[in-house]
Amino acid sequence: MCGFVGIVSSTAVAPEIHIALQALQHRGQDCAGIATMRHDGQEFFAHRQLGQVAQAIPADALATLEGPVGLGHVRYPTIGRGLLRDAQPFFFRQPGVLMAHNGNITNYSELRDSLLQRSIHLLSQCDVEPVMCEFADALNLARRADHSIDDAMVALAEVRKRVRGSYSIVCALMLDGKPTLLVFRDPNGIRPAVLGRRGSGAELAWICASETVALDVLGFERLEEPNPGEALFLRAGAEPIRRALPQAERSPCVFEHIYFARPDSTIDERGVYQSRLALGRALAQRIVDKRVAADVVVPVPDTARPAAAALAETLGLPLREGFIKNRYSGRTFIMPDALTRISALRLKLNPLRSEIAGRRVLLVDDSIVRGTTLGRVNALLREAGAAEVHLAIHAPPVLHPCYFGIDMSTEEELFARRFPADLDTLEREAAAALEVESLTYLPLEAMNAALPGPRCAACFDGKYPQRVDAVDRSSIVADRRGRDVA
Ligand code: SF4
Repeated sequence: MCGFVGIVSSTAVAPEIHIALQALQHRGQDCAGIATMRHDGQEFFAHRQLGQVAQAIPADALATLEGPVGLGHVRYPTIGRGLLRDAQPFFFRQPGVLMAHNGNITNYSELRDSLLQRSIHLLSQCDVEPVMCEFADALNLARRADHSIDDAMVALAEVRKRVRGSYSIVCALMLDGKPTLLVFRDPNGIRPAVLGRRGSGAELAWICASETVALDVLGFERLEEPNPGEALFLRAGAEPIRRALPQAERSPCVFEHIYFARPDSTIDERGVYQSRLALGRALAQRIVDKRVAADVVVPVPDTARPAAAALAETLGLPLREGFIKNRYSGRTFIMPDALTRISALRLKLNPLRSEIAGRRVLLVDDSIVRGTTLGRVNALLREAGAAEVHLAIHAPPVLHPCYFGIDMSTEEELFARRFPADLDTLEREAAAALEVESLTYLPLEAMNAALPGPRCAACFDGKYPQRVDAVDRSSIVADRRGRDVA
């Protein structure tokens, strides 16, 4: 889970990248970075630091980042441990390439070993670094200097041959003697990317970012989602140059709509807010079918709000804030013991007793991965005097880990896998385990009807859009186990 942006313009891009990254902050808070290239490609500049954008990249650092083409990145680690050395964008000195991405390279270890055999050493555990090294190595083999778009296509063919997994990549380098922003994606287009334009003539500027909110804040017009079947070469003052790449079945991640993307973004030609409303309406139908009786609908803030609103509207129930979220509290998983964790959750979510006490609460959340947080939220509701707690989840049970960029535990940690596969039995036994009166998931078919179109929904249905070898799975799982997450 990361956010990226690339901009090419006739003026310095770093200040605008800084703004775009703040719009993408929800996609990663561990570290932030901006890197730029001077107009003649003779000098590169970078600033990467741990923390959120505003603190990680202060104004004095921003002033040092020169150049009309550059990249920005906010990171939540899916491989590696979130150290500064893993912060993007990355730089390769020969021939001078910047690269940043969102995704998860599933054959990271294989790539690292293959690069080592060519005496190319990695400086990080970040999975875009081997992709960049493969690209740069192939580019240098095509020609030592003065690279062209044709050379870049040769290098991209090599990347496509060697690299597996999900990736939406932005890359800055000199091609045909011009500062160029290169955009390409994995053959399935799993992770989101959107292209925007602003201005005309010599002032024409281009942006590619993870989500449309980055375009909105900078006044860029949304054009399209880069096709996984082509590479885009973007230059200031010129129309994009498009070159074909092999393509597989389009499989954009459905979880972006359920949980990850900002509700004011548009992904796959569909507003994320609209998606969540549709999920809430579909969930309401199942609540009716199951005859769950409640007095008030309460969302777990913030993601579940749109679905809870649609669900309450459909059921004719009042929608209330049952918790006030403290936006300034830290992440809970660094807390060492159970008592501290409960306190951390209280710090993050404080229940509104006036809306809860004596009522049958229909609590809406986006998904259940490990189930630990919802158990604690239920405890908070009981303490605040809830008469009953009924859980409603606007996604199907998460039964399979994600190998494509959303860090959602290992197979044995997934809550829903502890119960029988039949949905009614699963709901009954899971409700008992969570100590709530009832639990209602959105069935897979209902989600498919609410969000039609091609997609990856592998964490729900197990149909991964790409082969993930057993050895790659084990190395991803080992990496996740080694990380300090709860
Ligand atoms: S497995 Fe789930 S979270 Fe991962 S890309 Fe597919 S839909 Fe998204």
